[in-house]
Amino acid sequence: MARDSLRDGHGRLIEDLRLSVTDRCNLRCAYCMPAEGLPWLAREEVLSFEELARVVALLAQMGVVDVRLTGGEPLVRRDLPVLVAMLRRIGELRELSLTTNGLLLERDAPALVAAGVDRFNVSLDSVDRERYAELTRRDALPRVMCGLRRLAEVGCPGPIKVNAVALRGYTEREVLPLAEFARQGRFEVRFIEFMPLDADRAWQRERVLTGAEVRAAIDAVHPLVEEPREPSATARTFRFADGRGRIGFVNPVSEPFCGDCNRIRLTADGHLRTCLFSLNETDLRTPLRAGADDDELEQIVRAAVWRKELKHRVDEPGFIQPERTMSAIGG
Ligand code: SAM
Ligand code: SF4
Repeated sequence: MARDSLRDGHGRLIEDLRLSVTDRCNLRCAYCMPAEGLPWLAREEVLSFEELARVVALLAQMGVVDVRLTGGEPLVRRDLPVLVAMLRRIGELRELSLTTNGLLLERDAPALVAAGVDRFNVSLDSVDRERYAELTRRDALPRVMCGLRRLAEVGCPGPIKVNAVALRGYTEREVLPLAEFARQGRFEVRFIEFMPLDADRAWQRERVLTGAEVRAAIDAVHPLVEEPREPSATARTFRFADGRGRIGFVNPVSEPFCGDCNRIRLTADGHLRTCLFSLNETDLRTPLRAGADDDELEQIVRAAVWRKELKHRVDEPGFIQPERTMSAIGG
């Protein structure tokens, strides 16, 4: 059943959903989680696969065509491929992608690809074992590398992207090794500016290593050529002038792309967020569990989406960091 498309009060068409399947994680990246972890949601607070699939099916009827599974670490959610297969049966969906830290990819890549994940983003902040452990607080680089290799062997339809958060004081030394990794041609590396969504609340503007700075450092050694940018794409992408690989930059702090934002997010406990930095969110779980029908849920979603923020105010005085941090939102 088709429903009217989903638009916000600023005229933007909403077509992309980031779906968090858990708030739990097996890493402790300094820019995201505290060393001791966070108080996890109780199991009954987290939406079941049936509840997730119902919300996605409804949103798909309203024109959401791209769904990205995230978390926390989505692969720690038991039987994730079962959810993927359930979502794949929703005919209106165009693309199903997944963001993971890669620790469990060696185990899960074949089942996830077979169930229908089209594209993978794997987070990797350093290709040096000690430096990786320093930032993520786990000595897990060899496992991630095995996972990446496994994923490449299995072969998924879309490109495999490798994401690194760019932190001043840490990432400068990682830039060229990661660029060399991209130049091997199998993975597209993307640098993401550090955002004020860390649980330690240590974010400062000065700690953002901007995409322009990273790009200049790479370009000085391996010249880059910019590629045309697709509307609502979050990344600016470049190819190496000598044809060896691609690289991208997601610059939410220095070059916000809110004007083209077509995304909404659903937290693992069923709260709809219309911006990463939203200070308000809309509870879908309570009506869902109270027996609301699809028309009632549609009205709640439409009202929330209508109020989608025009833009984030990260770089403005008076910015307020949301209570939920990245792993509890679903980045
Ligand atoms: N655990 C998975 C992972 O790390 O890929 C999925 C969830 S994680 C929250 C999604 C993405 O958000 C990762 O690429 C991570 O590096 C990024 N991220 C986390 N905290 C961030 C922050 N404060 N600023 C920018 N990116 C951040
Ligand atoms: Fe876990 Fe991903 Fe946050 Fe790292 S960025 S702590 S892997 S949720």
